[in-house]
Amino acid sequence: MKLTIVGSGDAFGSGGRLQTCFHVATGEFNFLIDCGASSLIGMERAGLDPVGVDAIFISHLHGDHFAGLIWWVLYARHVEKRTRPLIIVGPQGIEARYLTTAEALFPGSTGKETHFELQFHEHDTAATFDWRGLSCSAIEVCHPSGAPSHGLRFEFGDKVLSYSGDTEWVDGLFQLSEGADLHINECFAYQPGLRYHTNWLALREKLGDITARRILLTHMSRPMLAHLRDVEEPRVMIAHDGLVIEV
Ligand SMILES: [Zn+2]
Ligand SMILES: [Zn+2]
Repeated sequence: MKLTIVGSGDAFGSGGRLQTCFHVATGEFNFLIDCGASSLIGMERAGLDPVGVDAIFISHLHGDHFAGLIWWVLYARHVEKRTRPLIIVGPQGIEARYLTTAEALFPGSTGKETHFELQFHEHDTAATFDWRGLSCSAIEVCHPSGAPSHGLRFEFGDKVLSYSGDTEWVDGLFQLSEGADLHINECFAYQPGLRYHTNWLALREKLGDITARRILLTHMSRPMLAHLRDVEEPRVMIAHDGLVIEV
């Protein structure tokens, strides 16, 4: 799996980084993990064609993780003139939240005729979502978003990629990232004090029990970005927009 970091930022544009979006190319198909509002901008910058995306997996229903769907679907309809279906997998209620948001931003846009099908599926923490040889499992994490928020694990062939989504540390992440070739973990804060997000000092304590081969930090706030030089751990990498990693 070839991973391109389309957006590695928090919700606030800290460090000039775009909102969360990861592009994964398997060689057989392509998918996105999260689709923040700036995703099309990031894909353009990274030289990635939205036309090539077959599925979008959403961790949770905050705008910096799912709002890009609105522009993405408009692009698919008006620019790409897409005809093949798009799979969208996300938290319970994702279709309703998508429709509400799309109508708020582009009134009348959802009733228009399209030539492609949006196929919504909801994460089920008791079962995997299996599609074209890709297996996605979800755990619920600790991050209020008006719907369950998830950490996600993707298995394709012998490769494993896991992702915390937004959350303070929960022990379910140990299993989610077990033996992963790459674990992506949000690291919004540097030090403890804020609920519902991970901080580096807390995550550093957990590293010995995380069995993923590599750990990639993303979703960093301005204070965390100011501390990047303090992150000196052999398995830990820092995401930046446009970074490409062979998983
Ligand atoms: Zn969030
Ligand atoms: Zn976020």
